[in-house]
Amino acid sequence: MLKKLESYTRKLNFPIMHEFAFAYNIFKVAEATALKYNAKKISEVLLEIGELTLIVPELLQRSFEMATKGSIAEGAELVIKITPGKVKCRECNKTSEISLTREAQLTGLQLFKCSHCGSNNTEIIEGKKANVKNIKIQE
Ligand SMILES: [Zn+2]
Repeated sequence: MLKKLESYTRKLNFPIMHEFAFAYNIFKVAEATALKYNAKKISEVLLEIGELTLIVPELLQRSFEMATKGSIAEGAELVIKITPGKVKCRECNKTSEISLTREAQLTGLQLFKCSHCGSNNTEIIEGKKANVKNIKIQE
């Protein structure tokens, strides 16, 4: 049991990133794309983040504002779409959608139960990634 807990802690700790560093990365991705199209301004960035990244959208919005100040993305709207997490059960092989509890967000620790058989022996297969999906630019 303890061994299982440790492995989940490791898995969940990996994507925890300071929101500002993350916002800056998003900005750099958007900026590179905008420059490629000779854009003068970025007006919107559409971002998809997995629920299990433990990123706080409000903090990310604020960090994005700071990270883009004085750049071509200043004033751009950051649209955040949260995608649900998914686990695959090692016992029954089925997948379940999962969501983080408040407690898990605070501790970064959670065992995800299979919604089909109730087993804790599950593996996270979705929900830990973040992607810039689209940007809107002005030429
Ligand atoms: Zn199961």
